[in-house]
Amino acid sequence: MAELRFSALKELFNREPVDVDVPAEPVSSYFSHNVFDKQKMERFLSREAYRAVMTAIDEGTPINRQIADQVATGMQAWAMEHGVTHFTHWFHPLTDTTAEKHDAFVGRGELGSIIEIFSGEVLVQQEPDASSFPSGGIRNTFEARGYTAWDVSSPAFIVGNTLCIPTVFVSYTGEALDYKTPLLRSLAVLDRAAVEVCHLFDKDVKKVIATLGWEQEYFLIDEALYYARPDLMLADRTLMGHPSSKDQQLSDHYFGAIPDRVKAFMKEFEYEAYKLGIPVKTRHNEVAPNQFECAPVFEEANLAVDHNQLIMDVMRRVARKHKFRVLFHEKPFAEVNGSGKHSNWSMMTDTGVNLLSPGKNPKTNMQFLTFLVNVVKAVNDNEGLIRASVTNENNSYRLGGHEAPPSIISVFLGSYLSDILDGIATKVKDKKMTPQEKTEIKLGLGKIPGIFLDNTDRNRTSPFAFTGNRFEFRAVGSSANCSSAMIVLNAAVARQLKAFADEVNSMVDRGRKRDEAIFQVLKKCIIDSRRIRFEGDGYSEEWHREALRRGLSAEPGVPKTLKAYVTPSSRETLVGTGVLTDRELESRVEVELEKFTKKLQIEARVLGDLAINHIVPTAVNYMTSLVENVRGLREIFDDNEYIRLAGARKELIINISDHITMIKRMVAEMIEERRKANVITDLYSRATAYESKVKPYLDEIRIHIDKLELVVDNELWPLPKYRELLFTR
Ligand code: ADP
Ligand code: MG
Repeated sequence: MAELRFSALKELFNREPVDVDVPAEPVSSYFSHNVFDKQKMERFLSREAYRAVMTAIDEGTPINRQIADQVATGMQAWAMEHGVTHFTHWFHPLTDTTAEKHDAFVGRGELGSIIEIFSGEVLVQQEPDASSFPSGGIRNTFEARGYTAWDVSSPAFIVGNTLCIPTVFVSYTGEALDYKTPLLRSLAVLDRAAVEVCHLFDKDVKKVIATLGWEQEYFLIDEALYYARPDLMLADRTLMGHPSSKDQQLSDHYFGAIPDRVKAFMKEFEYEAYKLGIPVKTRHNEVAPNQFECAPVFEEANLAVDHNQLIMDVMRRVARKHKFRVLFHEKPFAEVNGSGKHSNWSMMTDTGVNLLSPGKNPKTNMQFLTFLVNVVKAVNDNEGLIRASVTNENNSYRLGGHEAPPSIISVFLGSYLSDILDGIATKVKDKKMTPQEKTEIKLGLGKIPGIFLDNTDRNRTSPFAFTGNRFEFRAVGSSANCSSAMIVLNAAVARQLKAFADEVNSMVDRGRKRDEAIFQVLKKCIIDSRRIRFEGDGYSEEWHREALRRGLSAEPGVPKTLKAYVTPSSRETLVGTGVLTDRELESRVEVELEKFTKKLQIEARVLGDLAINHIVPTAVNYMTSLVENVRGLREIFDDNEYIRLAGARKELIINISDHITMIKRMVAEMIEERRKANVITDLYSRATAYESKVKPYLDEIRIHIDKLELVVDNELWPLPKYRELLFTR
């Protein structure tokens, strides 16, 4: 059985970096080559169609059928120049990957012959059926049809011979079945609310977009070793494996020289990414061995999400060519760092102002502070919901680990901004303020920019940290579609900004000066959101206790955490803003509970199988050879000598035998618990049963297997060990 492991290790000796064919020209010469971007639209579309698409992108206006036909014709002409034969609507179902169903351009012409056809009708809408995607009860079989509809704001692109058209995915009744639909809605409500607040400072602002810069972490594993680990293949993470004697203790991998094979892989996927218009910028080794990161220049959030989903696809594909597997799982290996997808988020006006960037004078700084404080307040009021948005089975192994943010939401601002906020809370008077008092506060604001030259103030333990001109939401998991977090964040901030604008405007209507009204509402927000601000060590035990005292959500448990989606306040945030309907919201929670349960079920099955038909037989074989050995000693030595020599061996036999007994017993118990859980019809109770009754066995069984790994003859051990998985490339 150990054959597969050893032949995999042998294969590794002959691995060389794969030759990569990347042109020596500057990136700008091929950037966006495979994207139907504005330049190409200008070339391939009529002036009328081009203008209509631009207005649709900027203002969300619908595109009529006749224009859609023109766009389709232009798009097809461009695509066919690149040898494209098929098209697909590309969408984001509620799984962690994207979906596509390809159709050829072929159709019958008027004379009955086969010609290339692509019409506005099929560009705009498709009915891929796709009835097997999770819908959380929205789609009963009799109305199982799902529709995809063109998202004009994200450009079409080519992968291989296929033209991919980014789309939303909705049910027959128009309900969202994907991530993109609510993401687009959340961006629209954020736009409206933020513009209203901008108008308190600047009437010229017409549009506000959310910006997102994700940092994608991942592991690379050699393909041969991957094939020898059924747990990685089926469950995306190792369910067993004793820690390697050396792993990340020396931090010698972090920012280290990138290994040649890996560099070749990076070079190639980055080249593919550039051609797809994805502006990747940063690459480096991460802390854990064989862990890496890739980050682009930030973009408008909807586009950034599409690009993240797309680059994960590209990486998976390119990795295979380099005989690697890329692991996006949040915690593929116990005891070493997991992978996240830090999501850097901000808001930007059509006048080019980053609303979370400190300004150059008191007025712009007041606008900056207004947005900053409103985000802090939104996070405070929605901490449970925001936490739920990043909670799932995978990420539950990562959050709260000592390298990852804790599973408690708090905001880090740095001491300088904290002091400014506290200053406003104490200095602003509830009564009418004198001009002198106002001037004093504004002068204080005038000085902000200087501090950001020195960025040492960063707190790596915070899940939601202000980093100078954006917030960095670090709790997002590496395999997640970041929409899940973005939808909630946008909606929460939109709701808060709307409330803020309403309150300020009503004070102004009642005769207050505008700046005074702003200060006073800010003061209230600051006071009301004090509990969410935390500058200390998020990894510490005290913080956990302190957070509970502050009333923050800190209780463990995935199903319980997911319940935060459906509290009255969360409904107000998501349904009240129009980002989701009640039914869509509930269906999403169902989907999450189901995903959680199914992933645990898969892990439990894989572990049970491996334990019984890989590990136990191996241990029995080794034990048998020990028994033989003892029997041999008995034959050749006299009693005294035999007793002296056989003692340690017998102990080892007993030790191995005990582990085998425990493994067999616990696998049987785990199966029994699964059987009991599977008949529970209520999704929440079933998920809870899986978490409290089945999941503990994963750890327990693993302990015995990992102990066996230490004592069983290395020559017999069937699965590549951690030291092999993490240190060979
Ligand atoms: P670090 O590891 O120090 O956090 P990185 O350079 O790896 O920094 O990632 C920072 C990310 O933040 C990049 O994707 C960058 O484009 C993004 N970013 C910078 N400014 C903004 C902004 N205003 N809005 C959104 N993302 C931003
Ligand atoms: Mg970062």
